[in-house]
Amino acid sequence: MVKIPKSHPRYWSLYYREKIIEGMERGMTAKAGLIAHGRGEAFDYLIGEKTIEPAERAMKAAVAKFLLAKHPVISVNGNVSALVPKETIELAKAFGAKLEINLFYRTEERVKAIAEELRKHDPDIEILGINPTKRIPNLEHDRGKVDENGIWRADVVLVPLEDGDRTEALVGMGKFVVTVDLNPLSRSARMADITIVDNIVRAYPRMVELAREMKGLPREELERIVEGYDNGKTLSDVLLHIKNRLTKLAREGIWRRKEL
Ligand code: ATP
Ligand code: MG
Repeated sequence: MVKIPKSHPRYWSLYYREKIIEGMERGMTAKAGLIAHGRGEAFDYLIGEKTIEPAERAMKAAVAKFLLAKHPVISVNGNVSALVPKETIELAKAFGAKLEINLFYRTEERVKAIAEELRKHDPDIEILGINPTKRIPNLEHDRGKVDENGIWRADVVLVPLEDGDRTEALVGMGKFVVTVDLNPLSRSARMADITIVDNIVRAYPRMVELAREMKGLPREELERIVEGYDNGKTLSDVLLHIKNRLTKLAREGIWRRKEL
């Protein structure tokens, strides 16, 4: 990995960019994953590169839903395994969820490289999606492959950084779908039951924390959190956050300003 000076004003952004490049070099991340990462970064700039209130609200509802789930599954792709492998495993444990490798550009080498990365963090972790035998209806061959013991029978699925077409197909199968996506306008963001508009590098650690905090809550309380949640309002609040932030920046002026 290229050494980035800690003093660089955009150190963390460059750090995660290097992680994605490293993920590609090690066979986990697809080339298209690099482009998807760039699109995410652009939206993170607009949001302000921090977890905003609508994302925190969505995370609470998502955690409540996962703690109530019968067969919860967390999907892992090439970008996720490059950015947050350790946190993915922590989240699966905190939720009592299964992990499934689920790729848009599926190749056996990529599946193997991702499984290896996850096993580096926990050699005993159960990983699904290595030999998927089921297909999501209405998605052509490789794009639709899922594990019979994973996404196929899941009631609640977390599909971060997911393509919109596949998100929609999962909703069509009757799954309760949670996504993490920095672009509030993407098809995934619009189709999911709960959309967490935040960078996955901030969202996953926060969700692990929330899961540990909320684990002791009575079921009725968790149910109340899920029922009171409105994803349409969350997405509108994200758009308003971006609009208001840009309006404020435009009024204040940004020319030669060091911090935004
Ligand atoms: P859609 O298919 O949902 O319309 P898309 O085609 O623009 O979206 P995909 O490549 O299918 O994009 O999905 C990847 C999504 O993940 C993008 O919306 C991108 O903004 C988002 N994304 C990329 N990196 C991150 C990240 N680190 N954290 C959260 N979201 C991210
Ligand atoms: Mg897409």
